[in-house]
Amino acid sequence: MRMTLLALLLAAVPAFAEDVKITVYPVAGPVSMIEGRGGNIGISSGEDGMLMIDTQYANISAPIEDAMKTIGPGPLKLVVNTHFHGDHTGGNINFGLKAPVVAQDNVRTRMIGTKDLKDAAFRSSLPTVTYADKASIHFNGEELRLVHVPNGHTDGDTLIFFTKSNVVHTGDQFTNGMYPFIDLTGGGSVDGYLANVAKMLELIPDDAKIIPGHGPLATKKDLLTFQTTLKDTIDTIRKAAAAGKTMEEVQAAGLPAKYDSWGKAFVSTKSWITIVYQSSTK
Ligand SMILES: [Zn+2]
Repeated sequence: MRMTLLALLLAAVPAFAEDVKITVYPVAGPVSMIEGRGGNIGISSGEDGMLMIDTQYANISAPIEDAMKTIGPGPLKLVVNTHFHGDHTGGNINFGLKAPVVAQDNVRTRMIGTKDLKDAAFRSSLPTVTYADKASIHFNGEELRLVHVPNGHTDGDTLIFFTKSNVVHTGDQFTNGMYPFIDLTGGGSVDGYLANVAKMLELIPDDAKIIPGHGPLATKKDLLTFQTTLKDTIDTIRKAAAAGKTMEEVQAAGLPAKYDSWGKAFVSTKSWITIVYQSSTK
């Protein structure tokens, strides 16, 4: 079931690139967000060239590049991956030919899996610069602080703080207005995810702009609403599990109607219950 969930998410690839609408949102200073299909892309564009956070899917790299050209002339100097999932790293196979890819150590390990490193195209999609806990990139007049948050969404997630622009890219440690996917077979954990959200609320300045892994550009208030929703729904599911209800019974009962919209975008209410229930009964 867990694999099915992940497979479903990763299979959400459009058949044709022209089906995808790519939108650029200026965020602050040199930072922009690109929305297309898959995880939100963060861009820093300025006198040092361009830096890209996450790459979405390989079959939409061309329209993404067109969108990047509307932001600035480049060239692309560096790619950062927030974690290993295909909706954030699929385009590495194209963008990795133009610039080195940076990510947390576990991203490279998980991407390699059992694959053959003799394949040059595959090798170019892998992170070539990896780090354990913290790293800094000095680019376009500011320090980008890369902070690894442990076992939450996966075991290799990075938050990226644009320290001067006051922008944070959270990867999938935050999906704005929608239930998150928590990859229990990829080193993720429900309690770890909650702990990372609490840590993010401590680290992120009140007036920062937040690029979430999925969903619209956000504020800290949106992150707080996300935390409240997760805590409340997780609590409901766990109490039902502890009372001996089967997963099917919890799914049939559903979650409070006020949270309906949270299950309409990325992870359905039923899938969210599955993730939390499975993690509670392990
Ligand atoms: Zn993900």
